[in-house]
Amino acid sequence: MGVWVLVWSMSPVQIVLCANNIYSENNMADVVTHELIHAFDHCRAEVDLKNPIHLACTEVRAWARLCRRHG
Ligand SMILES: [Zn+2]
Repeated sequence: MGVWVLVWSMSPVQIVLCANNIYSENNMADVVTHELIHAFDHCRAEVDLKNPIHLACTEVRAWARLCRRHG
């Protein structure tokens, strides 16, 4: 996996992607979807990504979405 970053400390929340680590259109869709789930969680539930419990919850949600997409 490459570098994907949700920058929640900025307003508005930003998603920063490293193009060197995105290898296809489908991979781009997966990466953006994954990070958008984190952004949604941050905005919806004030997720603090420095809190390991919050981080684990949002990562599970984001990866579960990708697992459902890829079956
Ligand atoms: Zn993530």
